[in-house]
Amino acid sequence: MDRICLKDKEFELFIPEQQIREAIEGMAVEIRKDIEGENPLFVSILNGAFMFTAELMRQLDGPYEMTFARYSSYRGTSTTGRVNEILPVTVDVRGRLVILLEDIVDTGTTMQYVMEKLKSQGASDVKLATMLFKPDAMRCDLTPDYIGLRIPTDFIVGYGLDYDELGRTYKDIYKLVGE
Ligand code: 5GP
Ligand code: MG
Repeated sequence: MDRICLKDKEFELFIPEQQIREAIEGMAVEIRKDIEGENPLFVSILNGAFMFTAELMRQLDGPYEMTFARYSSYRGTSTTGRVNEILPVTVDVRGRLVILLEDIVDTGTTMQYVMEKLKSQGASDVKLATMLFKPDAMRCDLTPDYIGLRIPTDFIVGYGLDYDELGRTYKDIYKLVGE
């Protein structure tokens, strides 16, 4: 599909599935190298990172521990700047290398909050793997350790990403038309 409609908004095809998969393959190569001999804890950030997590884990194909967490800071198509903890990390992170799996880093507010929190809980290191990164939107002192694709500051949906809870289930990524 070249165009989709979600509620009042129209989106056009932006990144096809194949390109996303190739980007994730590149991330898997780097991550695999860095976790050799380590006992990492992967934390997938719900809901958006579910497809990215599934693809990355299939690529890594190893005996790793992983869990899920959920935060919210986003309403509609713009960030609120506040982070709400909906499902915290319940695994004991003391002394562990934690690798966060995020769908997209925009202003960085959410990940800065989560990374600081896990460090304060005693994680030996906290790394961030994000499928997508909007470098021009960044408002925090934070650089993701693993980045799939860098994109402009457009609002996108698909491959886990939603617009008011719709659109997560598309296999390709679409961007908002106009505005
Ligand atoms: P940040 O805290 O970095 O500003 O925003 C991170 C969260 O905002 C992401 O995990 C994602 O849920 C949401 N987000 C940021 N940009 C987009 C976007 O273009 N599309 C969608 N659907 N969500 C986004
Ligand atoms: Mg998210």
